[in-house]
Amino acid sequence: MAYERFPSWIPLLSVTQALTIYALGALLVGGFGPTAAFLYLLFCVWSEYRVMQMSCRHCCYFGKLCGTGKGIVAPLFTRRGDPSLFLAKAIGWKELIPDFLVFLIPVLAGLINLFFHFRFSTLGLIVLIVILALPGSGFMRTRLICANCRQRELGCPAEKLFGSKKKEGCSC
Ligand code: SF4
Repeated sequence: MAYERFPSWIPLLSVTQALTIYALGALLVGGFGPTAAFLYLLFCVWSEYRVMQMSCRHCCYFGKLCGTGKGIVAPLFTRRGDPSLFLAKAIGWKELIPDFLVFLIPVLAGLINLFFHFRFSTLGLIVLIVILALPGSGFMRTRLICANCRQRELGCPAEKLFGSKKKEGCSC
């Protein structure tokens, strides 16, 4: 059954996971200096804002506590949109590139760093961010977020991309 309002522990877990990925990412990109780390974090903020502009404003959770926590924050950054536009928008792999880049950029930075200065600490950071970003996100989406998402029941374009059976396609 979908939640009209998610229990707080799920968005709390989701926000903690996202912030941990950003922090690990900043540490890995920081190997190229503080400016690189700052620009990476700016990119992460932009990718969150982009989701609020593209998806959250048209979502049934706008102004409510959704699985990622963005629904309750979105009214601070954008105005309510049109729910029919949530269903109408097309989500392809191109639209998901910024989400993938959030963890691919630090992994790439870490691998380059490893090549020139091998350190187990850098290797550890890479393994951690990959676990959090791949199986970690997969678990959050399939078991906790999309599985209980009212918007998915109403219709979610990302589900078409990932295939309904999987319940992990999410445009947010
Ligand atoms: S469910 Fe997704 S699209 Fe809807 S408000 Fe939450 S983050 Fe945004």
